[in-house]
Amino acid sequence: MPKRGNIQVAVRLRPTAAFSEALSVTDAGVTVNLGHSKSDSSSFLDNQQKVYTFNFDRVMKDAPQQDVYESCARPTVESVVSGFNGTVFCYGQTGAGKTYTMTGDTSMSYLQRGVVPRAIIDLFRLLNERPGTIATVRVSYLEIYNEQLYDLLSPNEMTGHLQIQDDSSGNTVVRGLTMPVCATEEECMHYLFQGDTTRVIAEHQMNNASSRSHCIFTIHVEQRHNTSVAEKVVMSKLHLVDLAGSERVTKTKSDGKILQEANYINKSLTFLEQVVVALSTKNRDHIPYRQSKLTNVLRDSLGGNSKTSMIANIHGETAHLDETVSTLRFAERVMCVNNHAVVNESMDPVMMVKKLEREVRELKQELAM
Ligand code: ADP
Ligand code: MG
Repeated sequence: MPKRGNIQVAVRLRPTAAFSEALSVTDAGVTVNLGHSKSDSSSFLDNQQKVYTFNFDRVMKDAPQQDVYESCARPTVESVVSGFNGTVFCYGQTGAGKTYTMTGDTSMSYLQRGVVPRAIIDLFRLLNERPGTIATVRVSYLEIYNEQLYDLLSPNEMTGHLQIQDDSSGNTVVRGLTMPVCATEEECMHYLFQGDTTRVIAEHQMNNASSRSHCIFTIHVEQRHNTSVAEKVVMSKLHLVDLAGSERVTKTKSDGKILQEANYINKSLTFLEQVVVALSTKNRDHIPYRQSKLTNVLRDSLGGNSKTSMIANIHGETAHLDETVSTLRFAERVMCVNNHAVVNESMDPVMMVKKLEREVRELKQELAM
């Protein structure tokens, strides 16, 4: 295995009454003993190694939502307030707990809330604690389904107008995406719920599509000093990502539509893997980001300018051991990826224009004298 990178990787086990005897976990490791298992589900692993041991930054079994937030997301939120880009993403098979981890149950008690609502609350608290700084917060909510981009905050817009581009600093931006300003955490929550509702409605219409689409909730932060002469602006963003189920969708029993869909999903996950493998090996000359919308949008998050944390969700029942091994393998690969995060400080375009206007005025006055 290549050298350790700097992406933080945690594993979270979904609670289950039928935890497989083949799995054993410690605070930072998971062992899967397929020799132990009476399951014959492990077809693709036949004639291969039977005991797999994986090490991570942490392994969370029976962890409450608050603990998961504290250990996997809070440091990233703090970095975003300090001006770095941040990403928290969940990966794992359908039903393993990705959406529970990211969104949680927002209708019930506060205790069930996931990473996203907690990050919103923390972010506003931390920004309000910075005297002398004025912050502008915007949000966007993007869904990628069948290699198409959808704006979850503007569901009635025609699709096809969203485009992935690089901005002048080389950061990836999605042009055309609605990005409303949020003055308060309540407004931010409102947009989160609005986007989630759109997602749920679309899911019903598209036959449980949410497990096959990637959702990226992004909080964009601009910070300026509270003085009229400040010329610098610090711009950072926090991507909170709920990926499509990592299981490969079978193509055999499907009708035409599902077949096409299966191709897209399998491809986007394969391209994600290819990017991670390319990044974790020595020769980083060509990273195939442009092969899919997902890797293109997440270019900063993987191998780029972002402090990134991954949560690998696993469902520890015997029937899911193959998927568990494949999720853990991917997670181990991600640990080898190195990011290069920097504080995103630049000249404030608004102040630059004001400064230039002032200079022009002064020059005109000089000429008139
Ligand atoms: P995914 O998004 O990965 O497909 P979900 O988050 O929808 O999976 O989880 C599947 C089911 O398991 C949901 O009913 C969810 O509430 C439940 N669940 C998942 N993880 C946990 C957990 N840590 N504690 C309690 N319930 C959970
Ligand atoms: Mg889900």
